[in-house]
Amino acid sequence: MMGPSHALSGAAVWLTGSWALDQFADYHQTPLALAVGTAVCAGGALFPDLDLSGKVTRNQGGATVARTFGVFSLFIAEVMEKISLGVYYATKLSKDPRRNNGHRTLTHTIPFTLLVGWGTTALCAAYGKWAVVSILFFMIGLALRGLFDEWAERAGWVVVTLLSAAAAWFTFANLPGDRGYPLIGTAVGVGCFVHILGDMITKAGVPILWPIPIKRRMWTMIGLPNGIALRTGSKAETIVLRGVLTVLAVLAAVGLVAPSVLQRFNIDV
Ligand SMILES: [Zn+2]
Repeated sequence: MMGPSHALSGAAVWLTGSWALDQFADYHQTPLALAVGTAVCAGGALFPDLDLSGKVTRNQGGATVARTFGVFSLFIAEVMEKISLGVYYATKLSKDPRRNNGHRTLTHTIPFTLLVGWGTTALCAAYGKWAVVSILFFMIGLALRGLFDEWAERAGWVVVTLLSAAAAWFTFANLPGDRGYPLIGTAVGVGCFVHILGDMITKAGVPILWPIPIKRRMWTMIGLPNGIALRTGSKAETIVLRGVLTVLAVLAAVGLVAPSVLQRFNIDV
């Protein structure tokens, strides 16, 4: 799947989940909290592909998401890729093939998802304000890059960086400060998980069962068979899948925000 589909799926899942919680569990969120959760989940849904590095020294290559903050994020991707490859070799069994890069390994596993979700929550709890503003900055950048890829490409990484900084600061200034921010860690974790599911419907698949050894393989790639797998960049992805995700996201957003808007104008429904 391409970047925009990943980001869109993160946003759609967060909005639909929030709508379901609002409807069936009486769990309500302010519009700002909703916007933050949606942006962070969209960004989180791109985070696992930060294991696809390019040539940092020549400022080339890398996944779209690795280019969000120019060479800075390319460098992070380079490090993530090397760590992933290291973990691959450290845990590989006799039937696991040799690899020369770490893409779609460690960052595409459930333990990684849990670690990132827990780590984000722990950072927010320990460092409060500064952790929240940094994480928001990073995730909003990824979300902007993913959701508006063509615009981001034209605008360049400096504009994306400045916009995410502004959005993070605005959010922070308006977010109530009297509690922890468990929602941010949850949104990052859910986003990573949605990314893995998105890659699972492609042919290459993901090692979602890691670290469960199967037939002397630790890194069994689970994906759809050739005939029904989603082809990257195909019409099924860019039109059908993105269309469905957009409709879901919009419906959920309307369902969440409409009642409070109507209430403000004293309209009873
Ligand atoms: Zn991926």
